[in-house]
Amino acid sequence: MILIDGKKIASELREELKKEVSLLKSKYKKVPGLTVILIGELAPSKIYVKNKEKSANEVGLKSDIIKYPHTIDEKTILEKIKELNNDESVSGILVQLPLPKHIDKQKVIETIIPSKDVDGFHPENVGNLSSGYDSSVPCTPLGCYLLIKKIEPNLSGKKAVVIGRSNLNGKPMTQLLLKENCTVTITHSKTKYLKEECLKGDIIVAAVGIPELVRGDWVKKDAIVIDVGINKTDKGIVGDVNFDEVSKVAKALTPVPGGVGPMTIACLLKNTIDCFKRSQK
Ligand code: NAD
Repeated sequence: MILIDGKKIASELREELKKEVSLLKSKYKKVPGLTVILIGELAPSKIYVKNKEKSANEVGLKSDIIKYPHTIDEKTILEKIKELNNDESVSGILVQLPLPKHIDKQKVIETIIPSKDVDGFHPENVGNLSSGYDSSVPCTPLGCYLLIKKIEPNLSGKKAVVIGRSNLNGKPMTQLLLKENCTVTITHSKTKYLKEECLKGDIIVAAVGIPELVRGDWVKKDAIVIDVGINKTDKGIVGDVNFDEVSKVAKALTPVPGGVGPMTIACLLKNTIDCFKRSQK
């Protein structure tokens, strides 16, 4: 079984991005810039944002964090986003989720100009992805996609099963696999016979949030299994896949942690650079 080492693959991707930033710097005499807006004091959000900044600096991007207290009003945030939309030194804008309840998430997402939407959440980018056009793609599914391609470069005709239909993971994952000519089944909490659906998959992507939902006897021999889940349990962090059981059947499997997680931030950097490149055309 191939253990898909997301940490290593993400580090290789960061190395490539670092080289690319250096080339862009010589060509355009400026570097791509990522601005993250952090609202409130949620510990996980603060850690994510710190890691994003560290990785951005590592590859040579210009990186800024704008912090607001959780009591900040929606108008101030929307005005700041509009200001950043017009700031040429900013290639990508990310507002760290979740937001305080009094701030409308969709309004925030739609205020970010699509060309700087490094999360790929703006409806225009969602539409572009589903139409098969060039666009920002949400970072976690993009990371999953790159991991799958490392194992199997030609996905044409493969049967893929995506578990979970969130806007963040399941839906964009489905679009990326469709673009590669997979036959995709998207499953969710109301799917009947989930095990039987999974057994048909040459590729399974689990993005659910239920510890070890996918068991060894749900997986076809030699399937590629990507585990997006991050679940806190008494025995520590586990994924949506029962690692011990599935590793005996699968051809390749991501561990949790150390699989999809590290790819998410690397893909955010990639999206920022891609936004910069599109803006120079
Ligand atoms: P979500 O709650 O928005 O969506 C979960 C999906 O799972 C839903 O579409 C739901 O229909 C489906 N689902 C729920 N119960 C099910 C069941 N019994 N059978 C089949 N489907 C079921 O979650 P999300 O934001 O997509 O995140 C999913 C998981 O991925 C979570 O554990 C989250 O922590 C993790 N995550 C990881 C990363 C990363 O970088 N590795 C990034 C984002 C999210």
